[in-house]
Amino acid sequence: MAPMATEKQSLDDFLARERAALVSDCTACGKCVEVCPVTPFTAIQSGDAPGVMAGVLGLLRDGTPLQGAAREWSSQCNGCGLCIPVCPEAINPRRMLMLVNTVEAEQDSPTPQLFRKMSRAIRIMAAMQLAPPEFDKLLRNPRAHPADVVFYTGCNPIRTPHLLFNAMAILDALEVDYEVVGGPGACCGIIQSKWEGDQASAERVVDGTISRFAGFQPKEVLSWCPSCVLHLGETLSGFRQASFEFDHVTNYLVARAQGLADRFVQPVNKRVLLHTHDGMDKVGRNVAAMLSSIPGLTLVDTVSEPGYTCGGSGADRSPALKQAARVKTLARAEADDVDVLVSLYHGCHGQLSGLEAKGNFQVLNWTDLLVQALGQQPHDDISKRYRMQDDWDMVLDEGEIYLKANGIDMDRDWLKNLLPEIFAQTEFKGGLEAFASIRKNTGVVG
Ligand code: SF4
Ligand code: SF4
Ligand code: SF4
Repeated sequence: MAPMATEKQSLDDFLARERAALVSDCTACGKCVEVCPVTPFTAIQSGDAPGVMAGVLGLLRDGTPLQGAAREWSSQCNGCGLCIPVCPEAINPRRMLMLVNTVEAEQDSPTPQLFRKMSRAIRIMAAMQLAPPEFDKLLRNPRAHPADVVFYTGCNPIRTPHLLFNAMAILDALEVDYEVVGGPGACCGIIQSKWEGDQASAERVVDGTISRFAGFQPKEVLSWCPSCVLHLGETLSGFRQASFEFDHVTNYLVARAQGLADRFVQPVNKRVLLHTHDGMDKVGRNVAAMLSSIPGLTLVDTVSEPGYTCGGSGADRSPALKQAARVKTLARAEADDVDVLVSLYHGCHGQLSGLEAKGNFQVLNWTDLLVQALGQQPHDDISKRYRMQDDWDMVLDEGEIYLKANGIDMDRDWLKNLLPEIFAQTEFKGGLEAFASIRKNTGVVG
């Protein structure tokens, strides 16, 4: 996060200034539309690009609602960033569309109460997988004390907690002085800003989270979540001054790759296929470099999918494009030279890990492999076990034990009916209405 802002400003004012700058700088040449891989999956025709951009600029200028192809484009932008290098005016069109999304959400959010729904879903999923001390570690933020590094888990990654504990094992092996911050209580504010269109709440959330980071006086805040990196480090770049660097955790780890490799004591004799994303492609390269340094491991190939991540903020926004790429990924993973399909982020792992049940390949996160190479047992991937089940009663037989241990007592049938929605994160499509109701209707007793 570049320390650019010099005085405190409201998020509304900041966003208005950024929109005005884009309106002033963008010539509506349409080059960003022309290169965008999403456009073939919209109504945009050859020659439409300047008109689409005129619509985008109208919304940014005075809030004129987007229509037709321009609206489709903005709703399908998956954050891949392939438009960024082509802009002759050095505008970041991905950021432009993120700002468009905030205005559209202010005008008419298709996902009201998303944060409320998401927080509850995250809490239930985490409580179904973690023993109480681990649950507290991810959901209860510690009191501030000096630490070199803050490991920022974000909130949605807590749905797949095993990869966060693996990441901590890697930081431990490197003897990093770090503290863990995350959960819905330390959200980055993207939900309020881009999905709910509530900039006053978003400002409170961003301020609270940045202040929480600052309380540890860290040199660096390392984010697991790529959405947080994009929101805080790109969309809101310049909004708040920060005394620390904000970066993706893999950039920190790859800078210490030799120290990590020196600690590898266990060969991992696997042939792996790495799943990456077009957006923030450096993260994929970081992981490929670290995997390649593991003794015994063969990185047979890397397959990149659209967007900056899997999930509702990324590739799933353009489902037809994503599906075409996913078919290729799975075909490659089923080839004889692949033992393991390696996931990149939590969203990817959530979508891919259950496919292990088909028996054609194993699905591991890159952190699993690094922890194995360090001679340790990776954290139990209970979310994968749940996703491999085709019977929600079997999931609850195990999940209820953890839920009760974490003090959460829920009606089994009520929860069983909701689990498919919780695991599919349908709140990002306006689902999980049960969690939007008042508390007495949620079935949560404890
Ligand atoms: S970020 Fe990707 S999907 Fe979004 S506008 Fe740019 S090229 Fe298109
Ligand atoms: S490429 Fe740049 S100047 Fe051209 S329409 Fe896109 S954002 Fe505007
Ligand atoms: S971007 Fe990260 S912190 Fe923000 S809502 Fe998503 S998971 Fe949570």
